[in-house]
Parts: sequence; C-alpha cells; structure tokens
Amino acid sequence: MNFIDTHSHIYSQEFEEDRDEVIQRSLEAGVDRIIMPDVCSAERHLLSETAQKYPDITYPMIGLHPTEVKDNYKKELQEIEHLLGVNKYYGIGECGLDLYWDKTYYKEQFAAFEHQLNLANDTQLPVAIHSREAIKEVLTILRKYPYIKGIVHCFSGTVEDARMAVELGYYLGIGGVVTFKKSNLPEIVAAVGISNILLETDAPYLAPVPHRGKRNESAYIPLIAQKIAEITGEDLQIIKETTTKNAVKLFNLPDIN
Ligand SMILES: [Zn+2]
Repeated sequence: MNFIDTHSHIYSQEFEEDRDEVIQRSLEAGVDRIIMPDVCSAERHLLSETAQKYPDITYPMIGLHPTEVKDNYKKELQEIEHLLGVNKYYGIGECGLDLYWDKTYYKEQFAAFEHQLNLANDTQLPVAIHSREAIKEVLTILRKYPYIKGIVHCFSGTVEDARMAVELGYYLGIGGVVTFKKSNLPEIVAAVGISNILLETDAPYLAPVPHRGKRNESAYIPLIAQKIAEITGEDLQIIKETTTKNAVKLFNLPDIN
C-alpha cells in the first residue's frame, strides 16, 4: 500500500514544464494516487486533461474556491452542476470560506459554499473544504449538513475546533505546515489521532521543511508522514496504511491494492 496525496494542484500552470517528472518523482517516493481539487472554470480544462493523461494516478474533484467567488459565481455554480452530470468526479471542492484576503464577496462566499454543500448532499460526494480565518463560521455551517462527509483541507484552528470538525465527521488535512516551527498542528494531530487525518501537500504551495518556500510536490508526502510518525510515536508504515485507508474510504477510490 502506498501514500495518497489528497490535495495537489498538479494540473496547474506551475507544473506545465515538468509535470511528467513531478509525477515520476511522486511514484518513486511511494505516492501513487493524487486527488486534485478544482478552483474555478478558468483552469478546469487543465484539470480534466491531467486526469485523462494520468487516469490511475490523478483523481479530479469539482468546485468553486472561495477566493474565486466573484460577480459571476452563480454561472460558475451552474457550470459545476452541469459537469457533475457529465464527468466522473471524486468530490466537491475546494469550497468554503476565505475571510483572510478580501471580504468584498463575503455574502456571496457563504451562498456559494452552501450551494456546494447542497450539491454534495445530492450527489453523496465528499467535500474538500478550504477554510482560512473562518473555521468557526465553517463549523457552524457544516453542522447544518449532518449527512455530508469530507475533509477540512490545510486545517488551521484550535484543538477544540479540530475536535469539533472530527465530531462532525470530517477528516483534517495535514500538510507541510506540520513541519514548521511555530505550528500548532503537532498538538492537533496528537489530540485527534491518525484515524482522523489525511495527508496532503497543497502543491505547489506550503512545501514541508527542508523545502519550505520552494515549489511543493507530492513526492514530499513522506516528509509529512515522517513528522506525524514522530509526533504520534507510531511506525511510518502505520501512518501510511491508516491515512491511505482513510482517503480510499472518504473518496471512494477504486481498490488497487
Ligand atoms: Zn488547494
């Protein structure tokens, strides 16, 4: 059984030059499946092309990222609804709330998030949630949708918030930030345990130590897993098996092992 990177933008422009090599390095590092979050219609053709080119490795989701919620968000959501009936997707996302950058579309972000939660409800797909400076608001909304499962990607919040997310049936997405010096993620991982986490890179962003600040890629997943092994005192093998099983179950991936 190998690792799964549950969140990588491998289809994006940042990997245009060397995507084959990046995938190759990932396979060599023992990361043989990559879940791809969608952002908005602008890059969706790249996502589809990548999913077609690497069918047993890359698995696409579809969604509208909160920072891409603009005046045209209703049209974006219609397009998502249409495509859900046409192509195979493994989840809805990334969707959620980002109250860090720009609050111009504050109300629209909430509307777009709830719309996508309803889509997840109707399709019974898991959701990949982006939450920045918004975990309390996100948890309040998730409580209204008890039948949805998902992941709070790149989790940031308190230990209490983490416990709440787990209680609501969500996995926590743990990435490179867990290796950063001032992160509270070690405390959170220790509190919720490995049965409630998924591994992710969020490539090209948030590379783990010792690659911090450089372009991130799925081959770095073992560095994140190693840090989690240190935190929990578990074998690396157990971290791998447990997080892979968690990901297969949540995203309903075909069993290849
Ligand atoms: Zn992302």
